[in-house]
Amino acid sequence: MKRVVVVGAGFGGLQAIADLDRILRGDRGIEILLISDQNYLLFTPLLPQIASSYTDPRHIVQAVREIRGRRRFRFRRDVVCFVDAPNRRLVLESGWIEYDSLILAPGSRTDYFHTPGARENTWDYKSLQNAVELRERIIDLCEHADHTEDPSERRSMLTFVVVGGGYTGIELITEMRDFLFRYAARTYRGIQASEIRLLVLEATQDLLRGVGPKLAAHARKRLDVEGIEIRTSSRVTRVFEGAVEINGSETIATDTVIWTAGVRASELIESLPGPHDRIGRALVNAHLELEGYPEIFVVGDSAAAVTAPEAPRVAPVAIEQGRVAARNVRHLWRGEPLESFAYEAQGMLVSLGMNYAVVNIAGIKVSGYFAWLFWNAVHLYKLVGLKKQLQVAGDWALGLIFPRDAAIVRSPRRCKLCGTAGKV
Ligand SMILES: Cc1cc2nc3c(=O)[nH]c(=O)nc-3n(C[C@H](O)[C@H](O)[C@H](O)COP(=O)(O)OP(=O)(O)OC[C@H]3O[C@@H](n4cnc5c(N)ncnc54)[C@H](O)[C@@H]3O)c2cc1C
Repeated sequence: MKRVVVVGAGFGGLQAIADLDRILRGDRGIEILLISDQNYLLFTPLLPQIASSYTDPRHIVQAVREIRGRRRFRFRRDVVCFVDAPNRRLVLESGWIEYDSLILAPGSRTDYFHTPGARENTWDYKSLQNAVELRERIIDLCEHADHTEDPSERRSMLTFVVVGGGYTGIELITEMRDFLFRYAARTYRGIQASEIRLLVLEATQDLLRGVGPKLAAHARKRLDVEGIEIRTSSRVTRVFEGAVEINGSETIATDTVIWTAGVRASELIESLPGPHDRIGRALVNAHLELEGYPEIFVVGDSAAAVTAPEAPRVAPVAIEQGRVAARNVRHLWRGEPLESFAYEAQGMLVSLGMNYAVVNIAGIKVSGYFAWLFWNAVHLYKLVGLKKQLQVAGDWALGLIFPRDAAIVRSPRRCKLCGTAGKV
């Protein structure tokens, strides 16, 4: 029996496994296996809305076994530690497994660019756990600021810094603004709106690269109006506990620095044989094959296709590459010519919080309320499954009528001085 393995239950991996399942339907002598350390697909475009309590965390994930439905592929929840390419084996946390063909789609991880203190003192924003923890952090700081009298302590607690002016950083800060100004400043009697400071630090001169200069300027104007400070040409050079240093000189006191500035390939991909680009992604040919190993395909955030070096690290690219890799597995087995991946820009949609978005699709550029409605419609449509669509639509509708939910559900209170726990 032959075995094709897909690693990673993200956008690229799930598309690849679904397509393999379909195109190999008649080949019962082939085992199709998906391995991932998480047993769900995370719909990352809605991740910023978790921090603002606008959407419920469970509503933006879908279990792999639910997505599988009646398909025949097998799923194994496991960590892939190493690809033993010469022996066609995967070393897993719980053993090893052989493959005949392999599609790697393990996504990416955060790159701190060797900034001193960044790894230890910043909040990451890539996973569901990151989002849930940041949400609780923000609420916890509001709870403390509400009764803290020392002005400098209050200032640090209510200053939130996002490093990185890409779409993740901008969508996140605007969601945080909605929560802090529309909810916290009205509900916590000890917090004034004028005390809340929100900052985005971007090392380059450009904000929101990819939406075009005109829309980026629009976005910047909107953020100004909303009271969000945008500082371009501001490289974070050090992060301390309680402060962030910019361009090696200025220091800003803050209790919360969120790092969205860079990504690099996962360790699994960096350890693969063959060439890599400067952020550790595997350099693959037009068919998405790894050099010297035609049975290994790499897709999504992990891959740098030589034919499309300009392709951004976004879900539509991962999905399209997953499709091409799945078809190429079959072509390879049948001795047919392989297909090439060609990148087609699909535009960009960026939400700037409640009621405002900027959209650049097929040369059409719009911003404002209708762009925001369009952003909502597209993301609702792209969510997998009617249940998730209804849950998220429900969250959004309730969010328009009722105040946000500020309950801290994960971390029970424990006295910092004596260790006495509250109700655990
Ligand atoms: C906050 C945020 C917002 C975003 N917003 C958008 C957006 O609005 N639009 C857009 O198009 N893109 C957006 N993106 C980018 C998009 O999520 C990625 O480009 C896309 O997920 C890449 O797909 P992938 O299949 O390569 O990897 P992923 O979707 O990241 O999936 C990788 C999977 O592999 C698993 N895995 C990793 N390592 C291992 C291992 N060693 N063993 C087993 N399993 C492993 C992971 O747990 C995960 O399930 C956003 C990303 C973030 C973080």
